[in-house]
Amino acid sequence: MHPLSAELEHFLRNELGEAGQVALHEPCFAGNEWKYVKDCLDTGWVSSVGAYVDRFERDFAVTVGAKHAVVTINGTAALHIALYAVGVKPGDLVICPTLTFVATANSISHCHATPVFIDSELETLGMSVEALAAFLKQTTPSPEGPLWNGRRVAACVPVHIFGHAARMDEILALCASHGVPVVEDSTEGLGASAGGRSLGTFGVCGVFSFNGNKTITTGGGGMVVTDDDTLARRLKHLTTTARVKDRWNFVHDEIGWNYRLPNINAAIGCAQLEQLDGFLVQKRALANRYRARFAGLADAFFFTERAGTVSNYWLNAFLLPGIAERDRVLEETHAAGIDTRPCWTLMHRLAPYREAPRGSTLSGAEEIADRLVNVPSSAKLGRGFLNSAPAA
Ligand SMILES: *Cc1c(COP(=O)(O)O)cnc(C)c1O
Repeated sequence: MHPLSAELEHFLRNELGEAGQVALHEPCFAGNEWKYVKDCLDTGWVSSVGAYVDRFERDFAVTVGAKHAVVTINGTAALHIALYAVGVKPGDLVICPTLTFVATANSISHCHATPVFIDSELETLGMSVEALAAFLKQTTPSPEGPLWNGRRVAACVPVHIFGHAARMDEILALCASHGVPVVEDSTEGLGASAGGRSLGTFGVCGVFSFNGNKTITTGGGGMVVTDDDTLARRLKHLTTTARVKDRWNFVHDEIGWNYRLPNINAAIGCAQLEQLDGFLVQKRALANRYRARFAGLADAFFFTERAGTVSNYWLNAFLLPGIAERDRVLEETHAAGIDTRPCWTLMHRLAPYREAPRGSTLSGAEEIADRLVNVPSSAKLGRGFLNSAPAA
């Protein structure tokens, strides 16, 4: 057995007492979920308006330190509407890393725009600043934004991979100097920060997901946060069928979307948000234990947050020497009933995006994809270490 497979099995089975299949990431409903959902059913407020929708938006904005939060049916819809609202138009180009979940690229395609895939860096797992700079250098300025091969670069979408902060200061500076708005894909980054500021609050707007495997869940759901009053109003309008306020007439002043989150899901979100701090403490304790417990392994390196940033350790990750070791660990851990995962297939290798434009190299992302393996990361696994975890 590869030492990482053997140690993982020993750690989870013997030290944590995990029997049966160990999931990669499980939700935890230990708060007011039942109470709030019952309230929805008892009062009949189950659908797309209701007190929990408003409360979830308010509480979420406070949690991340944004002025506004607009809830959506899922993170993909949130990304789509955020890009649409910042002005991405059919035929435009939108920059994103090739190393991400497919929703990032798809939300660009849903705007009838084309993703441009940029390389990633080993230090943050996020978009490579050097690769972004090299790409932007090839553009020519125009009043509507920089042009690349005659097409406008309308936005840039950095992704905080597994809750680790991308280099926002440098990405924002580069994009600002070229007149490109930044929409943060912070779907994996709830509770994480850089320089004391929540991920998702650096760009014009930031996007979160509450899918079942994320740090908190509403079953399915998403959120866009922004400090811009006009943008927030527009996001709310677009996601609620663009209906104009009226006592009873149905008047819609543009083509909108039904991207509203039902009150029943928002109720779960309110209850989950109340537990976020606890989840983050448990996830950090687990990450600390992985780091300390597996530090002696010569052939497997535990990925940690960069100095000055605080990760939420949404999915813990190890880096192995190469694809052969990675595949061996995947085989062995799955045979032992432990759910581990490789990184996503890189976007430029997926059938719908094989022809998409890209930066001159994607070798950093390819190396990460070859070497990385995610290991079980549920908050509950960290419970046992709360008093024994070494300092962060
Ligand atoms: C989870 C996720 C999304 C959005 O996912 P939904 O399932 O639509 O909520 C987008 N981008 C990344 C990187 C994600 O991990």
